[in-house]
Amino acid sequence: MIKRCKIKVYGIVQGVGFRPFVFRLANKYNLTGFVKNLSECVYIEIQGIEKNIKNFLKELRNNSPPISEISNIEIQNISPINDTKFKILPSTKNTKISVHISPDIAICEDCVKELFDPNNRRYYFPFINCTNCGPRLTIIKDIPYDRVNTSMSKFNMCDECKKEYENPYNRRFHAEPIACHICGPEILLMSFNSNLVVSNGKNVRYVKKVIDEVVKLLKNGNIIAIKGIGGFHLACDATNYIAVDKLRNRKQRDEKPFALMVKDFNYIEKIAFLNNYERKILKSPEAPILLMRKKKNKIIAKNVAPELNYYGIMLPYTPLHYLILEKIPYLIMTSGNISDEPICIDNNEAKDRLKDIADYFLFHNRDILVRCDDSVCSIFDNKRVIFRRSRGFSPKPIILQKKFPSVLALGAHMKNTICIIKDNYGFISPHIGDLDTRLSRDFFIENINLMKKITDCNPDIIGVDLHPDYFSTQFAEKFFKDKKIIKIQHHHAHIVSCMAENNLNGQVIGVALDGTGYGIDGTIWGGEIFLCNYIDFKRIFKIKNYTIIGGEKAIKEIFRISLSFIFEIFKEKSFEIIEKLNFNLKNIEIFKKMYDNKINSFTTSSAGRIFDAVCSILGIKKTVSFDSQGAILLEAISENSKNFKIYPFEIEENCINFFPTIEAIVKDKIKGISIDFIGKSFHFTFVKAFVEAVKKVKKEYGINKVVLSGGCFQNRILFIMFKSLLENEEFEVYFHSQVPTNDGGISLGQSIIAAEKGGIYG
Ligand code: ZN
Ligand code: ZN
Ligand code: FE
Repeated sequence: MIKRCKIKVYGIVQGVGFRPFVFRLANKYNLTGFVKNLSECVYIEIQGIEKNIKNFLKELRNNSPPISEISNIEIQNISPINDTKFKILPSTKNTKISVHISPDIAICEDCVKELFDPNNRRYYFPFINCTNCGPRLTIIKDIPYDRVNTSMSKFNMCDECKKEYENPYNRRFHAEPIACHICGPEILLMSFNSNLVVSNGKNVRYVKKVIDEVVKLLKNGNIIAIKGIGGFHLACDATNYIAVDKLRNRKQRDEKPFALMVKDFNYIEKIAFLNNYERKILKSPEAPILLMRKKKNKIIAKNVAPELNYYGIMLPYTPLHYLILEKIPYLIMTSGNISDEPICIDNNEAKDRLKDIADYFLFHNRDILVRCDDSVCSIFDNKRVIFRRSRGFSPKPIILQKKFPSVLALGAHMKNTICIIKDNYGFISPHIGDLDTRLSRDFFIENINLMKKITDCNPDIIGVDLHPDYFSTQFAEKFFKDKKIIKIQHHHAHIVSCMAENNLNGQVIGVALDGTGYGIDGTIWGGEIFLCNYIDFKRIFKIKNYTIIGGEKAIKEIFRISLSFIFEIFKEKSFEIIEKLNFNLKNIEIFKKMYDNKINSFTTSSAGRIFDAVCSILGIKKTVSFDSQGAILLEAISENSKNFKIYPFEIEENCINFFPTIEAIVKDKIKGISIDFIGKSFHFTFVKAFVEAVKKVKKEYGINKVVLSGGCFQNRILFIMFKSLLENEEFEVYFHSQVPTNDGGISLGQSIIAAEKGGIYG
């Protein structure tokens, strides 16, 4: 019997190749009808025999284009009519389509097959792509997303590409970056002083020659800047200690781990533990860097990720990567920049900025228009968490529970991202980074313009951090004078970002464990328990304030934090204690004076800095070379201990007091107890104290939902202990899965709070 139904598909389904997908699916199952975009959904009518309709619906749900995200499907039976074909109908003129710009997508299996198939006309073509894969955001000049508005506009499609582009049955139907050896971009190898190494040309033989040369140079220990999708990478052989060391020196990067690109799963398994879920994440369209537990191995150079238990690993995600990695299985692929500056995207920019780092440059002539670093993920408790949300994710929106007034939120100062809310979507920019350099500030402004353009939205409400010294806050005050600026407390934004992605509204208990953020009393906060909603928060508990001597200096010189704890706890016995801890520091008297006279010191409730203090008390490291290294190293050694005990702590009126904890830790360290054990016990005590305080909040206010956020929750032990202890007490626990728990997620929370506040008072 012939049936007809109408189907409404909601979610991220427009501008992601959804209509051609529906078209091909309908034809596959001999169905007639049509598909078109409505303003809020994709509308489909299909007609045919019941079994085929069933199969159609099944595939619609399960095989939709990789970047689409179906939130809801409504199906209704209607009476069959007379039609003979399935059609893609144009949108009606006044339909306001919310077209979403797709993130960049890792090369798909079909394209990889063709890349290595000598009989395919795109054999060895370094820019092969299709509707399901390839660059998107990073080649965009303007909306709508059509070829003329991308950096592919300068390449004229050859006849064969054009045929594929126009054929709805073809995998490359309306694949905007479609190209081939004849009509597409080309690669070019140059030395640092601009000598051409392999001459220009457009065919398989030429590409092979370039790739062979690149591989030879890498194997000989050279550093090559390789132009990718969202910027340049600096590549070198990850098995070559001297090459890695050279890269560290030239990049001015002492100890921060380097990301690896590894040829395939077999090669990953030689150096790291790999399960099925991890395979899925690595192979996903986002193809992020995934933190993976190291195996003891003699393959990877020791200086790639010193003293850590994890490697950051990604698979090749562009055709060019595949061609190179085919012949050299382990590469360092680190962002093409100097220390904290933004990633290079332009050929000339790279030549200029990377000339002192790279020995050679592998260029191509498809322009990158949007900077987009690799994303970084980890797996906690069998779920993916995102530490850096950029390539592959941005600008795919977070689907919100309801429509909000439009807002632009400018993020925090470190790990900056910005966010625009439009309707029920939160669009977060690619990762920008710390706003300390001129270049990263330019990148920040670049991103504001980009996000306004691709969301086609210029909000009147601006959300910023409360911190008066943040560049983003000052920028808003200077350049958005005519708009409504709403200042938002840092940790409130953290908690609300987590609430928003979990579709939570109403009152919750928010636990923010963080480095530092500006509090409403003008002091620095960071270990907080809030009772909060989208608009307000009440600070119920905080970590009992402690002193940090030397202000900003203490971020790197973490021993300063342990000194002030020791001065506070041990008073006149401090010098003796410091002696016993083998601190080997000169001028302790000066620090004591600074502490006593409160010179250049401030007090804080930061959670992160306590981890730094413990790290230095245990003698793991006294000064660190990158942000949160202290906490990361403490986590790493604590993972080695199976056992732990509980240290004393005190829950006071509105404070959690860790001074007794630190006192006991100092004594255990002096006794010579294993630092792995002390570290693990500290983690447990810290969590236990917070859970006790959360229980008190529940008792008093009757709220059972606990929302966790803040940079400290990047610590795996801390998170897993926290979650399981809370769940044992039957709390509903919510955590991030779509935006980072660190400051990269702040902009989403800011935008929600600003929308709610701006809407009310506006
Ligand atoms: Zn493809
Ligand atoms: Zn072509
Ligand atoms: Fe923060």
